[in-house]
Amino acid sequence: CGIFAYLNYCVPRTRKEIFELLVKGLMRLEYRGYDSAGIAVDGDKNTTKDNNQDIVLIKKKGKVKALDEELYKKDCMNLEAVLGTHFGIAHTRWATHGEPNAINSHPHRSDKNNEFVVIHNGIITNYKELKKYLNSKGYEFESETDTEVIPKLIKYVYDNRERDDLSFSTLVERVIQQLEGAFALVFKSRYFPGEAVATRRGSPLLIGVRSQHELSAEHIPIQYNSGEGYLCVDVTGLVFYRENTGMEYYFASDASAIIEHTNKVIYLEDDDIAAVVSGKLSIHRLNRQAGEDPVRAIQTLQ
Ligand code: GLU
Repeated sequence: CGIFAYLNYCVPRTRKEIFELLVKGLMRLEYRGYDSAGIAVDGDKNTTKDNNQDIVLIKKKGKVKALDEELYKKDCMNLEAVLGTHFGIAHTRWATHGEPNAINSHPHRSDKNNEFVVIHNGIITNYKELKKYLNSKGYEFESETDTEVIPKLIKYVYDNRERDDLSFSTLVERVIQQLEGAFALVFKSRYFPGEAVATRRGSPLLIGVRSQHELSAEHIPIQYNSGEGYLCVDVTGLVFYRENTGMEYYFASDASAIIEHTNKVIYLEDDDIAAVVSGKLSIHRLNRQAGEDPVRAIQTLQ
């Protein structure tokens, strides 16, 4: 019932620091209630037993503390490795479909190679139809959750893409067009290393932004029309920093997990799709109505 994710772009962090940050984020969300927890991070390519598995999933029934202990047992993960750019996702689950156990806990994955992994807060009400369809196309499921249709669906969209250059956010856009119910989602993929896509409908999700450069008027996006924010969404929905090195992004179900890192946040609205590519954050909304204000200014938490 809690989402936390962290992306560092051109900010060197050791794997140990990243683990600590993710675990701390989950602990801040513990009050929301949960029965299991999990994370997905990049592994060390050379030491991971199966070299196809760039992304490593670690999931555990029970307390975040139990997950925390599990993280340090993986011999394929060099804790001192410095990761200049990295995206890690973490989740605490409140089971709605499928009992609390390691397989049913999040992140869920598209396939055994962990091509796409996702964390979800909410309920997908049309998951049975989607599962039936995906089963008929040969996609095999391993959990009893409603959530697992999401990573399978994005792989299906990816496998059947008409062009090679589809962006990660376009894939996600196509996925959420098929989903009914409530969701906050954060996606990670081995095909888009260092990139993040997040979206929501009905469940909360916000993004904290921290820059090594002071966020000032000089970093105002190319096109902007919001009064107070440093960061705005232009008419096409794009957010730009002129300077995009040294960025850190925090994705969370609520502000309590972000506030210790930054007080600059953006609350996503229903059907917003936020993507970080090369350190730049862009947000656009699915099916935006004509005349609807696209501006999403950054807010300063008090
Ligand atoms: N419905 C999903 C599940 O049962 C997500 C639950 C949650 O929000 O933690 O796994």
